[in-house]
Amino acid sequence: MGMEFFDVIILGGGPGGLSCASLLAEAGVHVLLMERKKTLGPKVCAGGITWHGFIQRIPEQLIERTFHEQKIFSNFQNFSFRSKHPVIATVNRLNLGQWMMADARSKGAHIRNGWYVNNVDNRIVTATNDRGKQIRLRCDHLVGADGSTSLVRRCLGIPTARLGIGINYQIPGQYKYMEWHLDNGYFGNGYGWIFPHRDSISIGAYGSRDKRTPSRLKNQLIQWAGSRGFDLAGKQARAELINYDYRGYSFDGTWLVGDAAGLASGLTGEGIHPAIVSGEAVARKIIDPDYPADEINQMAKKKMRHERIVDISSKNKTACSLLMETLILMIRLKVVDFQKQLSM
Ligand SMILES: Cc1cc2nc3c(=O)[nH]c(=O)nc-3n(C[C@H](O)[C@H](O)[C@H](O)COP(=O)(O)OP(=O)(O)OC[C@H]3O[C@@H](n4cnc5c(N)ncnc54)[C@H](O)[C@@H]3O)c2cc1C
Repeated sequence: MGMEFFDVIILGGGPGGLSCASLLAEAGVHVLLMERKKTLGPKVCAGGITWHGFIQRIPEQLIERTFHEQKIFSNFQNFSFRSKHPVIATVNRLNLGQWMMADARSKGAHIRNGWYVNNVDNRIVTATNDRGKQIRLRCDHLVGADGSTSLVRRCLGIPTARLGIGINYQIPGQYKYMEWHLDNGYFGNGYGWIFPHRDSISIGAYGSRDKRTPSRLKNQLIQWAGSRGFDLAGKQARAELINYDYRGYSFDGTWLVGDAAGLASGLTGEGIHPAIVSGEAVARKIIDPDYPADEINQMAKKKMRHERIVDISSKNKTACSLLMETLILMIRLKVVDFQKQLSM
């Protein structure tokens, strides 16, 4: 029997891969998405989505909580940012993934879960299927939507030098406020967060990897959370890398989207919306090669501004503190628009 052929094969069933699959299938493209997990959706994540990003595009029942107010804390300032629209909402990644999968399937995308892709070579994909059998498939276009440790990116020979680490505790309970803690004593130029969901609270920390090891960040997070009245000792932490090293998305019929492309923000670690925007832009570009995909270029420009802040603030403690306090002051004075400039 010959090798199975698809116009497009997508690796990875996160928001980047699923948004790409949905748009391609809707346009009648014969598309296959392969995901190593048996259940699509679950991902180490605080589940924050923004008003300018994704809030307005998903059904209300997927939203866990919405927040018109953001509480921002630094060493010297406590400040509440308010807006008439919800600034950030929280979603459960399992529910989001299942909804996006149903949408892509309803449009005709083929989705194989429990399939682990072992190798990609010249548009030939080798995978181990959900029964442990090795399968080889062919395609005209290959989309790497396989996250921060992307196999497709590695096979293209693209290095990943700029990485963040995110650590999340999802603890049962309720909490009133959404909070950002830019406390450089604990987190350097990163931050700690409290993102309430319906019946649980995401408490976590983000920072660039060159400055700290995951175990050090975890210890700092536990200490800081203790100072806020949350006892995390003995609870299960989950950590993952966030690739923000963007070096392009189009490589002669092989494409990268979302974290695989390094499109998350190095400053905040936000990556759901960049994954969706790039997944859709790549789908449009596959359908029509003349499509300009300006949305990816605009995102890359915004990311670069975020990275300049990361680079300057990582020089030393004083530069970091000065920059963070100035940034918060600029948000307070409305010189920096929290929603437009800090969210992706
Ligand atoms: C602690 C933490 C908190 C975060 N909080 C937020 C937040 O609040 N808001 C936000 O916007 N972003 C947040 N992020 C970032 C966000 O989770 C990612 O940017 C986003 O999920 C990227 O989507 P993606 O589709 O590119 O990749 P992913 O969601 O990582 O999906 C990639 C998929 O590819 C699959 N895969 C990988 N390799 C293979 C293989 N060989 N074969 C088959 N399948 C494979 C994986 O199983 C995975 O399902 C956070 C990240 C962390 C670590």
